[in-house]
Amino acid sequence: MALQMDLFDKTANEVMAAASYDEFKRRLLASGCGKCALAAGRTNIVVDRGSSASRIMVVGEGPGAQEDARGLAFVGKAGQLLDKIMESVGLDTDADMLICNVVKCRPPENRTPHSEEVEACIPYLRRQIELAAPEIILLLGATALQHIDKNKKNFSMKDEAGRFFTLPDHPGVRFMVLYHPAALLYNSGLKSKMWEHVKRLREHLGATPKRAS
Ligand code: URA
Ligand code: SF4
Repeated sequence: MALQMDLFDKTANEVMAAASYDEFKRRLLASGCGKCALAAGRTNIVVDRGSSASRIMVVGEGPGAQEDARGLAFVGKAGQLLDKIMESVGLDTDADMLICNVVKCRPPENRTPHSEEVEACIPYLRRQIELAAPEIILLLGATALQHIDKNKKNFSMKDEAGRFFTLPDHPGVRFMVLYHPAALLYNSGLKSKMWEHVKRLREHLGATPKRAS
């Protein structure tokens, strides 16, 4: 077991040491990561969807059935709704965003990931943030918010959604909290708030969502 843990650490360290986003992704996909219990139930490690050159990163919770089957983030029902919402303010999720999750392997029955699973996986997300260097990170729902901002314990999405903030750990990055699109599927009453929030996002981005080259 100790030997196996050493092996996991060695592979994970090699993934983390990648010097570019593409190399990171290649190494993580090839790693067969087994750092947490979610490895047992996955078909694919889901690293992302979209463009690592974009100004906007999106962080969800974890892959669902569709994402696990296709190896792409947010391609199921919630993802299709996300696409539509962003399209309504002129944003293309594939061209203008890099979409990621707090954990990269599907939790059984789509349950919320356990804290030890998040602890094992979140260094990968933090490295993705460093390598892709987005200007703004959209945190979709409570799981993304509470694991990115460690000081967030007891809160209500009603108070958080639409809020912008910064964190000392991520200089140069502005965070924005949004409702998770899956929440809108269950509670369509949240849609008008989400609409207000994405309009605020669009205003924040200015005339063009593309990264200045
Ligand atoms: N929900 C998430 O949080 N992430 C996905 O990739 C899909 C659904
Ligand atoms: Fe590794 Fe993350 Fe998958 Fe766990 S969820 S096995 S840490 S890639």
